[in-house]
Amino acid sequence: MSDSTSSTEAPRGLAVLGATGSIGTQTLEVVRLFPDRFDVRVLTCDGNVELLAEQVQEFHPEVAVVGTEERARELKRLLSGEAVDVRVGTDGLCAVVARTDVDVVMAAVVGFAGLAPVLAALRAEKTVALANKETMVVGGTLVNEVLDRNDAQLLPVDSEHSAIFQCLAGESERTVETLILTASGGPFRTRDAETFDDITVEEALDHPNWSMGAKITIDSATMMNKGLEVIEAQRLFNVDVEQIQVLVHPQSIVHSMVAFSDGAIKAELGVPDMKVPIQYALSYPSRWPAPHERLEMTERTRLDFEPPDTNKFPCLRLAYDALEAGGTAPAILNAANEAAVELFLDEQISFLDIPRLIEQVLDRMSVTSASTLEELVATDAEARQRVEERAAAPSN
Ligand code: NAD
Ligand code: MG
Repeated sequence: MSDSTSSTEAPRGLAVLGATGSIGTQTLEVVRLFPDRFDVRVLTCDGNVELLAEQVQEFHPEVAVVGTEERARELKRLLSGEAVDVRVGTDGLCAVVARTDVDVVMAAVVGFAGLAPVLAALRAEKTVALANKETMVVGGTLVNEVLDRNDAQLLPVDSEHSAIFQCLAGESERTVETLILTASGGPFRTRDAETFDDITVEEALDHPNWSMGAKITIDSATMMNKGLEVIEAQRLFNVDVEQIQVLVHPQSIVHSMVAFSDGAIKAELGVPDMKVPIQYALSYPSRWPAPHERLEMTERTRLDFEPPDTNKFPCLRLAYDALEAGGTAPAILNAANEAAVELFLDEQISFLDIPRLIEQVLDRMSVTSASTLEELVATDAEARQRVEERAAAPSN
């Protein structure tokens, strides 16, 4: 039976890109629950070679990919005796996702670096489970063109998009009125905006509901994460900007909702646990019984919802503006944000500098209709450079 824990189907070849990260390690936890369903063929990371070496020893993939030649040498040293091919960089990632023994690619690299391997996997007609939201923000138009031309499949992993995807099952596109993305509001939802300039890296990394990688945790604190998700939703579900609404929901129990033209609203609920949407993207269209924590409704006495405050969290407004501007604006927004978040994590700029720098770069760079990967790479590089220059200027 397709929904039982052990499978009579042949195991599917799995590539986990970003295997050492928050989503990557949780993906491997799901694989441990269903060892007969997967053959792990590819594991990759940028820098955490020690953890990757442990994962290779546990899952025995055919090939591993790391960020640099030096890390490749280090991985081989740690793995002496293990028969694994080691590849390097974006070229390595793009080559391994197209392997004939790979059926499903978990795209859990963080940032713009995730776009090229996702495109390569879709061109090779793989099923891609997409955690890397920056892919759709920067290259959504390109991704959708590649999906139209190839027999590939793209399944959302981001909890909001997984929730919407589940709410849309069996529904006609024409009946969708609004996609309602819920947002936790992050650690500073109730903090006085007057004190935002004093926010430390440690405070911003302390997310109330979710344990995630550093970059997305800062994005949640600025609410850029929700802005990126609005753009991601527009690209994935092909709706108008006006049809996407954000609601702050501090308990993170309702993962998102869809409102339909007859007044009905569907929601997907659960405890905040990324393993559930990760597993759904891997099991789709089936559901596999699993011991993930259950939501005890009686223990949750309230579910609150409030509109987001875009004066306090201007990143959300900047993202809507970039989506409406179209063309390369979302790519500029994303690159400027990645560069600014890196500078903040490095304690070189303040929390409020993040939206300030992004807005300045968006105002000054001209938006074009460019959409090839090469053009997007150039746009990304220019926006990053501008952020770094402005941050280094005495009166940024
Ligand atoms: P993370 O920082 O924990 O892990 C990132 C992984 O990507 C690591 O394995 C790292 O080595 C690798 N990596 C980093 N830079 C790379 C590069 N330039 N080239 C190749 N590999 C690189 O991040 P995460 O929290 O797991 O998030 C991954 C993606 O999933 C992000 O796009 C994030 O927005 C999205 N996402 C995460 C969560 C979550 O709960 N963590 C939820 C929804 C969506
Ligand atoms: Mg999300």
